[in-house]
Amino acid sequence: MLRIGCHLSSSKGFLAMARTAEEIGATTFQFFTRNPRGGTAKTWEPEDVKAMLEYFQQAGIAKPLAHAPYTLNACAKDENVRNFALETMTDDLKRLEMIPGVMYNFHPGSHVGQGSEEGIRLIADTLNHVLREDMQTTVLLETMAGKGSEVGRDFEELRSIIDRVELSHKLGICLDTCHVWDGGYDIVENLDGVIREFDSVVGLARLKAIHLNDSMNPRNSHKDRHEKIGKGNIGLEAFRRIVNHPALRELPFYLETPNELEGYQEEIALLKRMAE
Ligand code: FE
Ligand code: FE
Ligand code: ZN
Repeated sequence: MLRIGCHLSSSKGFLAMARTAEEIGATTFQFFTRNPRGGTAKTWEPEDVKAMLEYFQQAGIAKPLAHAPYTLNACAKDENVRNFALETMTDDLKRLEMIPGVMYNFHPGSHVGQGSEEGIRLIADTLNHVLREDMQTTVLLETMAGKGSEVGRDFEELRSIIDRVELSHKLGICLDTCHVWDGGYDIVENLDGVIREFDSVVGLARLKAIHLNDSMNPRNSHKDRHEKIGKGNIGLEAFRRIVNHPALRELPFYLETPNELEGYQEEIALLKRMAE
């Protein structure tokens, strides 16, 4: 059965997120580990995490996805900015050990004029510092739209990062449908071909999660503006094929569409109806 949820606010704690997820018909969800713009994280109460995990059992929720603040830049030119990313990710990963089965998604970064090769080197370097053999969390690199100097704009760049990471068995990919579309991949007319290409460049075994977003912009626009499902340039029929594709259908899907809870509830119901 389709496992689908959306991004939820973590401001009221973990149990509250699980309850909200169930209320809107979600069987998974994504949350920010801290303020999306960075900064210090609130203390995570072990009792609250425990209550969430118990609630998962009764509500059939699984595969929560933690998202790093999107302002982190592991390949910044400024060493202080890179160190901030490293320290934040280290702290996030330490906390996430409290949540069995969680995955941790992050935006690789922007090379800000240093060139993608240097960006790739710096991102891998950061990962080589934050990953630990005894860690249970899988860390996901998100496919990016290629806005500005974003690294991870194509499958090759993601592969190059993975190749430079020692504990690469701890790494996976989160594919964002808006981002790959804006990045130039034709998931509307040639979903099979894009999946084959992903498989040959990165390997499908690395694909662990899907961010399900329509796009306000045409393919190859490198813009990254999310749209509601079926209201953008990707369109409803493409989403029907995506959630039913044999290579994708077992993965968890997370909506990051411009919606309040009510809109998310409707999209979740719509996608569940479309899943065969
Ligand atoms: Fe993201
Ligand atoms: Fe995303
Ligand atoms: Zn985005």
